[in-house]
Amino acid sequence: MPDQMPVKDVIAELSELHKAMDARTKKAEAVVEAIRILAAMLGEGCTDFDTVLDILKDYEGLVKQYQGLHRRFEMTEKPTYKDGVWHCPACNSRIQPNHSYCHRCGKRVGWGR
Ligand SMILES: [Zn+2]
Repeated sequence: MPDQMPVKDVIAELSELHKAMDARTKKAEAVVEAIRILAAMLGEGCTDFDTVLDILKDYEGLVKQYQGLHRRFEMTEKPTYKDGVWHCPACNSRIQPNHSYCHRCGKRVGWGR
């Protein structure tokens, strides 16, 4: 693979290309949009494309992590009632009626009222 061109150089090359284009064409519009995206990335400190890809990958991981936390601590699920006691919908351990969270796993419990 050839050496990666830094983001700022790509922006400079695209800007040159844009100057040489008829600005009314769709291609020229696409170049402007590409420059805007790259400039935003550069503004976030991404000077090369590997950094951009790393950030996107980290972002995906954070989204998954957040979704898991949201499911556990914000979304409620009904406890189950079995043999005279209530059970956590996530870990099935015994819970006291009207406790908002399972004391064992932290799952938010919804009593459905
Ligand atoms: Zn639990």
